[in-house]
Amino acid sequence: MIQNKAPGKDVSIEDMAEKFPLASKKNNTHFSNFDVGGIPFGGSLIPIMAGPNMVENERLIVETAINVKKAGAHFLRGGAFKPLSFPYRSDKYTETREEGIRWLGIAKKETGLGIITEVMEEKYLDLICEVTDILQIGARNMQNYPLISAAAKTKKPLMIKRHFGASLRDWLGAAEYALYEGNEKIILCERGVTVPHTHRDSSRFLLDLQVVPAAKEITHLPIAVDPSHATFWRPWVAPMSLASVAAGADSIMLEVHPDPENSAVDPLQPIDFDSFTKLMRSMDKVAHINGKHILNV
Ligand code: PEP
Ligand code: MN
Repeated sequence: MIQNKAPGKDVSIEDMAEKFPLASKKNNTHFSNFDVGGIPFGGSLIPIMAGPNMVENERLIVETAINVKKAGAHFLRGGAFKPLSFPYRSDKYTETREEGIRWLGIAKKETGLGIITEVMEEKYLDLICEVTDILQIGARNMQNYPLISAAAKTKKPLMIKRHFGASLRDWLGAAEYALYEGNEKIILCERGVTVPHTHRDSSRFLLDLQVVPAAKEITHLPIAVDPSHATFWRPWVAPMSLASVAAGADSIMLEVHPDPENSAVDPLQPIDFDSFTKLMRSMDKVAHINGKHILNV
């Protein structure tokens, strides 16, 4: 087997030994395999995390939970504390914060789905941990090391999204902060990087699918992909989800909304329940090519 001694342009053998020894793959067969509430990560199942961008209200999150579960999703996503790009708020465009966390709890009770939601401030960790199964560190906080350390100390599994300007080296450094706290349940999530020119002016990010095999050469941690944030454009979500599964992603995060065009946040990117159900079946077929699966069929 060909050994790539210096995988990636910015990661050296010394980095692997000295900068992120815990995140580096210990040998060619060591992969991180762990279970979150009975759902295994890093194995032959590709867990799917689906839900709205924002937990807008109780009805929306419960209805979404029921429908994504019916389609085979493993986790319900949704932000109650959100890094919104501008400080101005309308009634619709307001984070639901403590209320939103409570509604996620109701959706969890109704469906049994595990929850993944973002934490932005250390002071809300206890509250969020009462409900969530996975703490999401958003792209904007990937280098907020005190937040990552505090989140890791809760012992909840963490998903660290890659900042849109971060190298693989930076991303693994963030994971190392979490591993250093003794928390081994760390998932990395690629969600699109900024490039000078993408296909259209409104396309904010480019999905860096190459980072999936690149990261796997170095780290044993499971690598998730979020094609919704990466493409920012509904028609591209399904093709890039299939490509992500083909590229070897260990988990996929998707924005799903009962009425996508009226999503309070980023209405161009969520898909509806029917599209999600179809996509789950297609992703499962692609997963089979790699000897993996998404659905129980
Ligand atoms: C999100 O998943 O809701 C989100 C804000 O994503 P990102 O941090 O990748 O922008
Ligand atoms: Mn199958």
